Amino acid sequence: MFATCDIKMGELVLSERPLLLTPAAIPMLGDTNLTDARSEEVHRCEYEQVLQRCVNLMLPKNRTAFFKLHDAHTKDGSGHISGRTRTNGIGAMTEKSQEEKRMRDYGYSTVFNEISYINHSCLPNASAKFSALSLSSGARTIRDIKQGEEIFISYCKPEIPTAERQAQLKSYDFQCTCDACSGPSSDMALGKIQMSVAGMLRLDGEHGLMYAELLIKEIERKWWYYLEQYGTYLGLAAMCGKELKNGRIP
Ligand SMILES: [Zn+2]
Repeated sequence: MFATCDIKMGELVLSERPLLLTPAAIPMLGDTNLTDARSEEVHRCEYEQVLQRCVNLMLPKNRTAFFKLHDAHTKDGSGHISGRTRTNGIGAMTEKSQEEKRMRDYGYSTVFNEISYINHSCLPNASAKFSALSLSSGARTIRDIKQGEEIFISYCKPEIPTAERQAQLKSYDFQCTCDACSGPSSDMALGKIQMSVAGMLRLDGEHGLMYAELLIKEIERKWWYYLEQYGTYLGLAAMCGKELKNGRIP
């Protein structure tokens, strides 16, 4: 997906309702008479049947759009519906309480049409978030985007080391070659940025402010605005600056 005009940071690129909203998983039967392999096979078939019932309820145009989506799981025993769900699904309401987990509530998976066509980068310029309130997902820019630039979201946690990202991306059946994956120093830079906040709090106000500003500059230089540390360091810099101004920190 490419930007057809300049887009400012934070703007909504698109918002849509899912083609499909399904249980993210179903419990395994735990039949002790079956081998693990057979048990997994039965479980896959049962999940496919659950998904088939959902697909049967879709509007014909949505069903057509769904089956046009890429399926990266054609060789691992996944069904043609669960394969597409695994390739394009975005978790929704997956933060479960212990009680919900105990009740075997695995949350939901959503499959969108337009959002599914946004490619991955470990240095994304947009992010897609699901809203349970509006039952929709919106993709917003996380930095300014120029006309003609490709819009990327991240299919994995972008702040984890390259090897772990590559492992997580395996299920999508592609090798990421973005700058973070091909740049030898990206893990080191990420490690530096992720230094413990507790350690920073032990610094005096002046040094805390200096260090926070250095890290903020590093994050901005690399366009890593999506890192949660960005907000943390902005907050720390503001706190240290305020305290220094009030003379409460030496
Ligand atoms: Zn990458």
